[in-house]
Parts: sequence; C-alpha cells; structure tokens
Amino acid sequence: MSEENWVAVGTATTNRTPDSNVDIFLDLDAPSICPNMTDAEFRAMVLKNRDRAVTHVDTRILDLKRWTAKDQARVALWFGSSSEDLRQRLMTGLTALARVLRDLQPKNFVRYSDELVKHLGCVPNNKNGSGVVADVCGPDTATHTICIHVNFCSMREFSWDKDSVVSTLIHEASHFKDTFGTQDHIYYMSKSLPLAKTNPERAIDNADSIAGYVIYEA
Ligand SMILES: [Zn+2]
Repeated sequence: MSEENWVAVGTATTNRTPDSNVDIFLDLDAPSICPNMTDAEFRAMVLKNRDRAVTHVDTRILDLKRWTAKDQARVALWFGSSSEDLRQRLMTGLTALARVLRDLQPKNFVRYSDELVKHLGCVPNNKNGSGVVADVCGPDTATHTICIHVNFCSMREFSWDKDSVVSTLIHEASHFKDTFGTQDHIYYMSKSLPLAKTNPERAIDNADSIAGYVIYEA
C-alpha cells in the first residue's frame, strides 16, 4: 500500500480495563481527521511538529544535565524552586516525554469521538466546541492515542508564547501516566506561570506548566 493510501487500522489494548480491547475499524468512507486537509497532509504536518516538540524537550534535558544558573532559574520560574528533587523529577519526566513523543506515529492520532474515549478508559469531556483542540486518556499508556478535535486543524504550528500544534503535542503527551501524568489545573502557558509561586506542587502537575517550561520564550 502506498503512503498516500495509508489507513490506520488495528486493535489497541488499554491497561485501564483489564483485557479490554479497542477495535479500530477500517472505514474508507470516514471523513478525514481534519476537514481542511487530507489525512496525508495531516500526517505530514503532525509528524513534522512532533519532531519539533522532541527537539524542544531534548533541549530542556540538556539544560538539566548542564544545570547552569540560567537553567536553574528557568526551572524555578515555572515550578517554584530549583531543588535537586525537582531536577530529578523533571529529568525522569522529560526523558519519558521525549520517548513517547518520538514514538508517536500517524496511527496515534484519531478523530475525536465520545465512543473512542470511553473505549480508552476515560469519561468523554463535555467541552466540545469550546476551544478544545485535543484529548488523551491519561491511563492509556498502551496506545498513547491522541484524539483530535476540529479546532486542532486550524492551529498555528508553532509559537514561542502561544498555544500551537507543538505546545499541544507536549501538553497532551504530558498527561500520560508514564510521562508526567499531569492534570489541567490552569490552561495556557502564560497563565500557568503564577502557579510556580502560588502552588508549586500543582505547577509540576499542570500540563501547560510543562509545555511552558519546555518552549515558552517571552
Ligand atoms: Zn489537557
């Protein structure tokens, strides 16, 4: 089968519900993931930005190894301190995050449906149409499925300080329990910054704090 005709099809096993399986049906009549591009264009776009996300995470891993005053200040800015404990948590989490991002393939990206989210072991969110761009089910470490909402399709691909495809991939991958297992305490990178001072434990547990630490440049 040529790359152009590539169709995601397979069975995914989740680890939330023992022995549960998700059948991913081959449906050639299904609409494309994004209405404004073909699935081939979507795959090329998302994989290019996956690579970009990995590059940014790898940069932060180098920071943590180098651990200059500037690197420590960046960690303190986003997470409230630059303790050795925090450095180790970030090193462990970012190393896992880089691995999960690097392993993302076209089959990891699916069009959002409530049905799929239930199969993956989570409760569908009710935020459809209110700016949600993507969803994952944190316990879904078996398939690392990223559910794509239509708003994702028209996002800017990259920005140093605003939501983008790159920041979204980092945000979503940080939710998986085998990376940081983050929550959404506060949305948007810049709005997450104050958490470092007000509630550092939440900052390290907040998806947009992780995304902000990785890519934000004021
Ligand atoms: Zn989220």
